[in-house]
Amino acid sequence: MSSELITNYQSRVSKEEQRVLRRDHVPPGSPSANQGRSFAGLKYKSAVEHPLDIWFASYVIGLVTSALYRTVVLLWLVAISAHSAPLAALIIDGQNNHDWKATTPVLKRILEEGALFAVEVATAPAKKEQMGSFRPAFGKYKVIISNYNGEAWPRETQVEFVSFVRSGGGFVAVHAANNSFPEWPEYNEMIGVGGWGGRTDKSGPYLRLKGGRFQQDDSPGVGGSHGAQHEFVLETRAPEHPIMKGLPQKWLHAKDELYDRLRGPAVNVTVLASAFSDKKTGGTGLDEPLLFAIKCGQGRVFHTALGHSVVSMSCAGFAATLRRGAEWAATGKVTQLAPEKFPTAHRVAMIGTGE
Ligand SMILES: [Zn+2]
Repeated sequence: MSSELITNYQSRVSKEEQRVLRRDHVPPGSPSANQGRSFAGLKYKSAVEHPLDIWFASYVIGLVTSALYRTVVLLWLVAISAHSAPLAALIIDGQNNHDWKATTPVLKRILEEGALFAVEVATAPAKKEQMGSFRPAFGKYKVIISNYNGEAWPRETQVEFVSFVRSGGGFVAVHAANNSFPEWPEYNEMIGVGGWGGRTDKSGPYLRLKGGRFQQDDSPGVGGSHGAQHEFVLETRAPEHPIMKGLPQKWLHAKDELYDRLRGPAVNVTVLASAFSDKKTGGTGLDEPLLFAIKCGQGRVFHTALGHSVVSMSCAGFAATLRRGAEWAATGKVTQLAPEKFPTAHRVAMIGTGE
């Protein structure tokens, strides 16, 4: 229901009411004050003495009741439409050492499932093309999803993006988006931890599991690595967080890269889930944090280190956490129920054509 329609409607109602008021308002001492009122060319006396006055009173009551009823219905419709209006989301791609042309449509399809999001895509210029023109209108969206790992954005775009997030916008970083922009401090605060791009202990600490929770660890070493791709078990570390609430404690993720040794500012980070990085597959032998919720000013960031390929993204666990993470980033809440189709600790579940 548009505000224009409501305004027109209110204007119509007020005109009706004005007509009622006009015929009720009779100046004291005027001939009609004692003799009756005029309406639509009819003349009649007091409401109790003439059947037409009873009809008139009924008409007024009916009019007011009808107006109230219509107002209530309109407000209800406005409330419904406000609730069901899709959240505007923007995926950014265009450069990535991964197959962004294949994976962006998967991200888009996952987010559009259930009509919770209306998704647009902004494709940045390719390498060595004119990046200066890349200035998405971030303010049009509730959440920005990055499937981007490439050249630095123009300074103005960086400033606008930081302002968007810190003032309450949502951001979702997917997989290699955490490789991006090693030299951009505000971006690294948003993602919490990242990898590659020359990241070292100078980039910030690791997040390591100590005493049952993930804490900063300043040990020296590289920032970012992974072993061979394989299926691995995600373990929930923040079961009461809106993104994770209702999801299984452990679930088997489809074949993917298990990022390890990510590091960065690591402030205001909640580790939502981790996976054991087995040395048998070239890992660290440690629990590696892979899903994160980060507070950044008034804004919220969901960071999933999962999603190397179309296969990895087609995991029902990846899809559900992405969609829930994007909703939390956009609104601070998660209204989605836990999906019926979800991996167990021992069995992978892939999204189908209807997902
Ligand atoms: Zn990858």
